[in-house]
Amino acid sequence: MAEHGVGGLMDFGLFKSWGSRPMAIDLGTANTVIYIPGDGIVLNEPSVVALDIANGAQRVRAVGNEAKVLMGKTADNIRTYRPLKDGAISDLDLAEQMIKHFIAKATGSHSLMARGPEIAFGVSSASTEVERRAIQAAAINAGARDVWLIEKPVAAAIGAGLPVEEPVGSMVVDIGGGTTEVAIIALKRPTYSISERVGGDKMDDAIAGYVRTKHNVEIGPVSAERIKMEIGCALATSEGEKITGSVGGRDVTVGNLCEIELTQAEMAEALHDVVQQIVEVVGRALGHAGAEIASDIINHGLVLTGGGSLLKDLHTVLRDETGLPVHVAPEPLTCVAIGAARALEDPEYRTEFASVARSHT
Ligand code: ADP
Ligand code: MG
Repeated sequence: MAEHGVGGLMDFGLFKSWGSRPMAIDLGTANTVIYIPGDGIVLNEPSVVALDIANGAQRVRAVGNEAKVLMGKTADNIRTYRPLKDGAISDLDLAEQMIKHFIAKATGSHSLMARGPEIAFGVSSASTEVERRAIQAAAINAGARDVWLIEKPVAAAIGAGLPVEEPVGSMVVDIGGGTTEVAIIALKRPTYSISERVGGDKMDDAIAGYVRTKHNVEIGPVSAERIKMEIGCALATSEGEKITGSVGGRDVTVGNLCEIELTQAEMAEALHDVVQQIVEVVGRALGHAGAEIASDIINHGLVLTGGGSLLKDLHTVLRDETGLPVHVAPEPLTCVAIGAARALEDPEYRTEFASVARSHT
């Protein structure tokens, strides 16, 4: 594929050593992960941007970890945003600023002087043409030389070590913050993929809703997420009555601040409907598998990736409901970035990427 004439200074070997190093970015609704082959995971931060709003003007105050700590705690002049809320890019401009910030942070000062890296992005299989172009444009503006897009479940499957290149159907279920994406992959291609707006965020909402209804206490989304990670569970067990955690909030009847204790059994009750929605998405994907692929999936089962797969007993519920073996990937939070980077090294995937999208500056 012809490259455009960058010429002159930029072609000197001095710069080429950096410029030729590729990277992969998993632009998640909850977290952005950047992987550079040879260096490993170089960035793993929440996909959050905090803006300073003064006199009608907006300025980026913080991105990533520094922005997430400001969530729900800010005065009127600071607002926090998630540019990819609900699985789609909700704010193109903020998404672009966030992508630029993360690329600059991951590459350090190199990005200013080099030809820029090739970047593979893991994107939702449901992302629109407009969103894909926006990601490409943001990365090019941030100094990327070429941008390749790979569908997230395919990257997740590669990163999880599934035999995607074989004539065997593999099923991967990526449960992120905003979406659950399911794909069946054989011979390096998704034969079926589906993305639903259900995942960790809906779990947090369900917990907050439950606490409000059952305990008359309002808790914020950050607290809901924290208690989910501590004692969240997909399955009601008798043991769950004894496992407890506490969370602070505001009593809605009298208005004072309070701390309440929740049990793991209550978590399972709060999360029941969201868990069933995830089961339903998986069931729908299984319904689309052809006979041969279905027999592969019956033999090998399905693999869970994404942060949502860490919810206690979710794999057990999925196993019981589908009757299939269910495995959680060894590195569920980073396998999309790792898989996208591996795909970048494989010329066959490059042509595959090219058919999806190829940027030209
Ligand atoms: P995305 O790809 O959408 O950015 P991730 O794959 O990074 O999402 O997963 C983030 C989601 O996983 C969040 O909703 C987070 O709360 C959830 N999560 C992370 N760890 C756990 C855990 N131990 N238990 C339950 N949920 C978890
Ligand atoms: Mg993810």
